[in-house]
Amino acid sequence: MFSELKPLPTDPILGLMAAYKKDTNPNKIDLGVGVYKDEQGHTPVLKAVKKAEAFRLENETTKSYIGLAGNLDYCDKMEKLLLGNDHPALLANRTRTAQAPGGTGALRVAAEFIKRCNTDATVWVTTPTWANHISLFEAAGLTVKEYPYYDYENKGLLFDEMIEALKQVPKGDIVLLHACCHNPSGMDLNAEQWQIVAELAKDVGFTPLVDIAYQGFGSGLEEDAQGLRLLAATVDEMLICSSCSKNFGLYRERIGACSFIAKDAAVADVANSVLLSVVRSIYSMPPAHGADIVNTILGSEELTQEWHQELAEMRDRINGLRSLLKDSLNAKGTSQDFSFIERQNGMFSFLGIDKAQIDRLREEYSIYIVGSSRVNVAGVSKDNIAYFADAVATVLK
Ligand code: PLP
Repeated sequence: MFSELKPLPTDPILGLMAAYKKDTNPNKIDLGVGVYKDEQGHTPVLKAVKKAEAFRLENETTKSYIGLAGNLDYCDKMEKLLLGNDHPALLANRTRTAQAPGGTGALRVAAEFIKRCNTDATVWVTTPTWANHISLFEAAGLTVKEYPYYDYENKGLLFDEMIEALKQVPKGDIVLLHACCHNPSGMDLNAEQWQIVAELAKDVGFTPLVDIAYQGFGSGLEEDAQGLRLLAATVDEMLICSSCSKNFGLYRERIGACSFIAKDAAVADVANSVLLSVVRSIYSMPPAHGADIVNTILGSEELTQEWHQELAEMRDRINGLRSLLKDSLNAKGTSQDFSFIERQNGMFSFLGIDKAQIDRLREEYSIYIVGSSRVNVAGVSKDNIAYFADAVATVLK
């Protein structure tokens, strides 16, 4: 059976990571991988996380099974983090949540859940989107189609084109939206645009699925959830897939959540029984550790405050680097205007350079960027930004 298999190409980002590791140039810079890095190039364990882990080690009393939905206190706190404490959907008891193994696990559970609701549903994703969106929905047997989103030429949004495309989406299809810090473009909808999309979802009858993997990395925990909250206040039904990988720095603990909002509490209960049966048939129950950490942090005023501070440090560093990158690149006087870097949010932006220039950056300067020119802004530091700007200016000449 196995000898008939044909080898598949390595994931381009993983290939790039391996090449970076092997590179002996002391000035090398990795802008490929999608994790937050501090000024020293490390992805640290947050102090609030360390404290919550110490507490867990002391106080854990059992390793017995956790239940299909995972840690229910965690699920409850995640709903409040996503929607805000007093959201009408929460007050009306219309929301249900299952803890999931990372944002990816949440998306896969959502995909299987969608399949149970409507086997013919198509999932519409932004052009471009996080590459794994397409593979994981297709792997669940759903059709994936794209709608216009990023304007490569003007480094903004194709909002009119997006709305025209969404008007044509058949009733009952799913439209995936990035809540904030769009991966890979960094371009987000503003509040007015979210409202237009929400009204459209209601009129056209598509179900929004909001992927929120970077809450707190753009403008703040509340601000980054404003679109999601607006949608949730407008439509009868929606799905939310969240991840604690980035904002809690819990990448390898695999912690996220799959939530949905139904028309009323009775429908929510029925749909929840289906959601939990999906979970049962994939991995039975989620792992406990990550949820316990998040639950401990969000359950303690002191740890929550410390986490807010650490999250703000990560966010401020990214936004500071965005300004610095824009200034350093624009100061080189190349024909390109890099002001868009400052207008975009989160860790990613497309630099807007071509394949040959990306290859030169890697071969001549040991600067590693994926083929689409998406850069992880957190991959540069104040120490190497001048080296980076010089290199980019040289390959642009
Ligand atoms: N969604 C988006 C848009 C992402 O960028 C990522 C991670 O890069 C995820 C979901 C999944 O995150 P994880 O499975 O690591 O929690």
